[in-house]
Amino acid sequence: MKESKAVRGLKIAEPLIFEKSRKGRSGFTPPPDRFLGDVKAGIPASLLRPEMDCLPDVTEPEAVRHFVRLSQFNFGVDTGFYPLGSCTMKYNPKINEATAALPGFARLHPYSPESFSQGALQLMYELEQYLGEISGMAGVTLQPAAGAHGEFTGMRMIRAALERRGDVRTKVLIPDTAHGTNPASCTLNGYQAVEVKSSPRGVLTAAAVAELMDDQVAALMVTNPNTLGLFEEEIAEICQVVHEGGGYMYADGANLNALMGIARPGDMGFDVIQFNLHKTFSTPHGGGGPGSGPVGVCAELLPFMPVPRIGKDGERYYLDFELPSTIGRVRAFYGNFLVMVRAYTYIREMGAEGLKLAAQMAVLNANYMRSKLGKTYEIPFDRMCMHECVATDSHLKKYGVSNVDVAKGLIDRGFHPPTVSFPINVHGALMVEPTETESREEIDRFLRALEEISEVAATDAASLHNAPQMTYICRPDEAAAARQLILTADMMIEEG
Ligand SMILES: *Cc1c(COP(=O)(O)O)cnc(C)c1O
Repeated sequence: MKESKAVRGLKIAEPLIFEKSRKGRSGFTPPPDRFLGDVKAGIPASLLRPEMDCLPDVTEPEAVRHFVRLSQFNFGVDTGFYPLGSCTMKYNPKINEATAALPGFARLHPYSPESFSQGALQLMYELEQYLGEISGMAGVTLQPAAGAHGEFTGMRMIRAALERRGDVRTKVLIPDTAHGTNPASCTLNGYQAVEVKSSPRGVLTAAAVAELMDDQVAALMVTNPNTLGLFEEEIAEICQVVHEGGGYMYADGANLNALMGIARPGDMGFDVIQFNLHKTFSTPHGGGGPGSGPVGVCAELLPFMPVPRIGKDGERYYLDFELPSTIGRVRAFYGNFLVMVRAYTYIREMGAEGLKLAAQMAVLNANYMRSKLGKTYEIPFDRMCMHECVATDSHLKKYGVSNVDVAKGLIDRGFHPPTVSFPINVHGALMVEPTETESREEIDRFLRALEEISEVAATDAASLHNAPQMTYICRPDEAAAARQLILTADMMIEEG
């Protein structure tokens, strides 16, 4: 077995579980009368898989320690402040976990008949209603598995509606501030993404959209507030321009945390929106956990929704497959159900007033941060922002210190870095989103860390170039690490 050579604090460097493996070790004891000590002997040959031989042989405590140690390498919203702009890394209340763990939800088999699943169907039905109310949309589907999948589904419905009227178009307009998933969702639907330049104020203008609008434009995809944290002030006029040109308005709803309870995308004129339950509605994300990207549509697009829809007949809930123009199914079963349970719990726990207050606090926190941060860092669009703001590293350039060095320096000071180098129309961007769940003291600590980094840049830039020092791995070559993944413990110890 590889030895754990390095200890830093109480965190123990951990080899791969395959390196810990010793032939014959096991996490359980087979009943001797059935297997006579040989597990395989009791299993019919047709059910034995050759791949099983590659699985590691470890004891139960070895397996437990392995995964607990790996979990301690991680940083999450339960560890500390996570101001990763655009991702809305808010604290996830533990009551959400309690309801998602209720056996009636957690153990419900997706093939259970409707008569045994009434509670789950009711929850999904009501969650659709709540999301429709919050966004101002006529109907909602919960099927898509994440935001990007919701975008794909929404654009599919737009395509289906256009094809239905014999009007196959070729392009989708996307602002230069857009998230990378937006052009990807267009491309997957066979559309060419065409960039719309933001104005010097960092927002779209109706004039810029009108200039690009023609009979080949299927839709405009807009995130509002946009990824600079700015409200798209001309959105009503922009909707009018696109609708008059025969196109649809797609709202990337990832930034709904700034709006919920205050303004509704449906009222602004949007035809489709995706929700990121794992952002706005406080269900866990990061680390590849399941997400959920429900999609809301206006009445005109309802016939194209994915099936099954969830129906209600008197007191009975049922799955409805009868939708002749449906785009079909986009996900096995009904989507990531337990994420829906968490979001439902959050909405019921907060109530309408609570959701509104959360949005107001998120905006207040971001503006507090913007006004303080602006004393040291350049804020390119320095006016009232929504739930996030974008600063730059411009004042550090003369010391050879970049936004990435700032991000790495923050790790050593106990913070998750903000989003860097996005949106792409801001050079050296540091995009911070405090969310409503952080206290003023925590935000002040973060601001002090950023100021300190700024001072250190002037006196000891090298220490920032070598940051982080408090992690197992300091500065991997990120591009090489992505292309040539080597995960062995030796690497970690040498690097760390
Ligand atoms: C997070 C995000 C997305 C993508 O959502 P996923 O759930 O990560 O697929 C799209 N647009 C914006 C603006 C986002 O912040």
